Amino acid sequence: MKIVRHRLHLHDNDPCEYRKSPCHGGKMTPRLLVIHFTAGASAESSINWFLNPQAKASAHLVIDRNGHITQMVPFDTVAWHAGASRWNDLSGLNHHSIGIELDNAGRLQPHGDQWRSWFGRDYHDDEVLVARHKHETEPSGWQLYTREQIETTLEVAQCLFARYGLEDIVGHEDIAPGRKSDPGPAFPMGALRARLLGRQEDSLPVMRTTTGLNIRSGPGVRHPLLPSGPLPQGVKLEVIDQDGDWRRVSVLEAVNGLSDLEGWVHGRYLEPVEA
Ligand SMILES: [Zn+2]
Repeated sequence: MKIVRHRLHLHDNDPCEYRKSPCHGGKMTPRLLVIHFTAGASAESSINWFLNPQAKASAHLVIDRNGHITQMVPFDTVAWHAGASRWNDLSGLNHHSIGIELDNAGRLQPHGDQWRSWFGRDYHDDEVLVARHKHETEPSGWQLYTREQIETTLEVAQCLFARYGLEDIVGHEDIAPGRKSDPGPAFPMGALRARLLGRQEDSLPVMRTTTGLNIRSGPGVRHPLLPSGPLPQGVKLEVIDQDGDWRRVSVLEAVNGLSDLEGWVHGRYLEPVEA
């Protein structure tokens, strides 16, 4: 995937399906990606709604349950998906974010031995997650997302983060808490955020060994030493994970002729390298 003139292009370089919504504002520079569920009966019904000028609602992309993408607003243009909303120092997130709508029925109520959406369709247990929304006290049913939707969302998000230098991915529920519950507990936000931001969030200052230091395959002395032998004093490395006192490190220089070394060292023998 790539982005050309604020329009998404797919693998074969073809522009993604584009159906221009009349519901949009002026130009903007996106900083955030906002995920929604449509709470609708089909992607087509949501797309038709966003094509209706009366709707006063839209999103940059709609992703159906097969992972098919429809773009409705260019990425440098305000779409009307967030409403009254707040994130850190920003408010009115339509002016600062790209919105993706995922075709999903949303919250479901128990109905006999099945689950029923607000528009009256029934769902079997195997399509439903029963979970408590993070802003609520009682569990509800939530239609599951498809694997294709999640994979497509991740791929698009990676493309958008790279092109626009986005700062975070959030749910509508995170920027309009109390008012919105999408994308809800069925959406794997933690996993996506880790894939998109993990490295950035974890990136700690460059460290240096203060002594010759054993490097091991795991966090603790019971784990075997790496064949590289100990790290010499003064070797620079990046901390990429931690477990108690132990630090998983990526060594930034060759040790005994071995480069790209990764392993675990005791954190007591590391000091930050002055900037
Ligand atoms: Zn929403």
